Amino acid sequence: MKEEFDVPFKSDMIPTKLELGSTIQFRCHPEISCFNACCKRADITLTPYDVIRLKEQLGKSATDFLKEHTVPFPMDQDGLPGIKLRTDEAGACLFVTEQGCSVYQNRPTACRYYPVGHMAMRRAGSSEDETHYFLVTESHCRGHDEERKLSIQEYLGEQQIAAYAEHNREWLQIMLKKRSAGPTVGRPPESSLQFFFMCSYDIDRLRRFVLSENFRTTYQLEESTYRIFEQEDLPLLQFGYKLMRQVFFGERSIPEREGVWEQRVTQRQEVWDARRQIEVARKQHEEESRYSGENL
Ligand code: SF4
Ligand code: SF4
Repeated sequence: MKEEFDVPFKSDMIPTKLELGSTIQFRCHPEISCFNACCKRADITLTPYDVIRLKEQLGKSATDFLKEHTVPFPMDQDGLPGIKLRTDEAGACLFVTEQGCSVYQNRPTACRYYPVGHMAMRRAGSSEDETHYFLVTESHCRGHDEERKLSIQEYLGEQQIAAYAEHNREWLQIMLKKRSAGPTVGRPPESSLQFFFMCSYDIDRLRRFVLSENFRTTYQLEESTYRIFEQEDLPLLQFGYKLMRQVFFGERSIPEREGVWEQRVTQRQEVWDARRQIEVARKQHEEESRYSGENL
């Protein structure tokens, strides 16, 4: 029996759970009748590694790329910041041309996977992540009518997904861990959402932050490590993931100066208590308003 499951976006497809070895029938090429149709109604969520590849191809800073080519959206009920590729008013990707994708060599993860959908999950009580695949069959996409058959693994190899999977893996784990930790009390503070945004997408701002004097008073890194972060994006991106783990989940993999940790635990407890009090007061106020409304 086929296993079916919910997918987190609107589509006219019937989701069926697939494995890496499952066979699909699909081919996309410039002579196909629907060429570019998918890029003319693009809804592309970007990952940290997508931003690095695209801003490099365009010769822009990450900050400028984010401003000019992306729009923000909340990825969950806590307002965790996500970004999507900006489109024109009709919904077409700004990178699509008559000849196809103008950033093809560096096209985002979502464009490479299409029409294969994937979802990382973590079952309650498990520390293992699982990835599930499904096939997106939208009526405008004629690639499913083509004769070619291949496995999902072969298709992903053809799309050179490996580098994207490698550089985004830890970021996806951070989001899964955050979700599996359950609901928080109230919305996380704005500073925490901004920190997530900086570490995930704005590598230039992260670089300024990590090379600042303020950072050095908290963390203890080798000078040679700072030199690498000055010059290279990918090691800095991975460091940003570690930093998020340390700040959000208390995983202490980056050496800190003496006393900093204890100070942070105290500060965090104070912030946590304050948020809890605000949330309790808000609920109490809601209850009171409801009952006074009923008594009118
Ligand atoms: S980035 Fe390229 S492949 Fe992706 S939607 Fe835009 S034009 Fe299409
Ligand atoms: S076959 Fe599908 S993926 Fe390829 S251009 Fe047509 S709509 Fe896009």
